[in-house]
Amino acid sequence: MPTIDELKRRACETVDRRANDLIAAADWIHAHPETGHQEAQAAERLTDLLRQANIPVEMGTAGMTTAFKAELPGRGDTRPRVAILAEYDALPDLGHGCGHNLIGTSAIGAGLALMEVLSELDGSVWVLGTPAEESAAPNAGGKVHMVNAGLFDEVDASIMFHPATETTITPDRSLAARGFEFYFHGRAAHAAGAPEEGINALDAVVQMYNAVSMLRQQVQSDVRIHGIILAGGAAANIIPDYAAIRYRTRADDADYLAEVVDQVVACAEGAAKASGCRLEWKEYMPGYENTVPNAVLMDLMLRNLRSLGLDVATERKRKGRGSTDFGNVSRRVPGVEARIAITEHWDVPGHSIEFRDAAFSDRGRQAMLNAAKGLAMTAIDLLGDPDTLRQAKAAFQEEMLR
Ligand SMILES: [Zn+2]
Repeated sequence: MPTIDELKRRACETVDRRANDLIAAADWIHAHPETGHQEAQAAERLTDLLRQANIPVEMGTAGMTTAFKAELPGRGDTRPRVAILAEYDALPDLGHGCGHNLIGTSAIGAGLALMEVLSELDGSVWVLGTPAEESAAPNAGGKVHMVNAGLFDEVDASIMFHPATETTITPDRSLAARGFEFYFHGRAAHAAGAPEEGINALDAVVQMYNAVSMLRQQVQSDVRIHGIILAGGAAANIIPDYAAIRYRTRADDADYLAEVVDQVVACAEGAAKASGCRLEWKEYMPGYENTVPNAVLMDLMLRNLRSLGLDVATERKRKGRGSTDFGNVSRRVPGVEARIAITEHWDVPGHSIEFRDAAFSDRGRQAMLNAAKGLAMTAIDLLGDPDTLRQAKAAFQEEMLR
């Protein structure tokens, strides 16, 4: 019976052996960006690598066309089961400015590596293709849809990689986030000849925007409220009879966020009342919960990444936080997200052209390969020693009670 260290070594060798294929896929996906729920070619490219290794792939998981699930059997029972999460959606206009081309290929690389060693381990691994992490896509949040479909009821731990500007494993929690659209309906009229006949929907949007800007000063400092105007009229000589605005709202935790959301809705209602418009609004995507750190998984990932020679910090220099649908997963099962730098400097902003270019650089490709190894090694730790998984579950229970 090989030791855990021997299995890890074999897994890492597989990643090295498959490096060219993984890099080719990462580069191809980067050059062909597709936004959330449209990432069909990326999904095909990634699942092709699994199928070529005789790993069966189910497409359309949890009712999403571009989602997939690949089951890698171990010896004996399917439980415990570790899920390795892939993302491969891009941002509108910007392309792979969040580097999800590297996330997808790292998960596939880990899957290929684990395929080589799973016959020596109890349990199984899922490589899950989780679409539409970026909230720009309608009905985004592939992982939330998978959580709601009960997929994670059959998972014992969940791990993934996200490219970053610093290599860190930290207990930082992402922000809970929700998304809303507000539609104001007014009445069109000639803007010069008969303005008194019109009801100006753009005025309602502007009033709401200003009211929310004032609200921003009266909320806790962890709150973020940011939006774009979706529609604001067709011509300057027509009183706009329709205007719309989309907001994302975020806060440290879901309870306080719910209070903030009520205040944002009040801003919309006030603007509708003042302008005479009729208001409709909806939550246009499922909420992203804040992530829950898992000290046991963090420690495993930290040690595995360090064993690859990576300089891993336990604190981040950049303090700003985003949101992720991995938050919802991390509140169902123990989870960890490894963050590995793909940029030379830590102060490059995410969702930028510099970050996009880094996702197509040698440093980015190397980070992806290291991530594949780190993910595979962490899965081996969890399946190779039942005590480790038990500890991770105990840490999860403890964290959820906080
Ligand atoms: Zn991202």
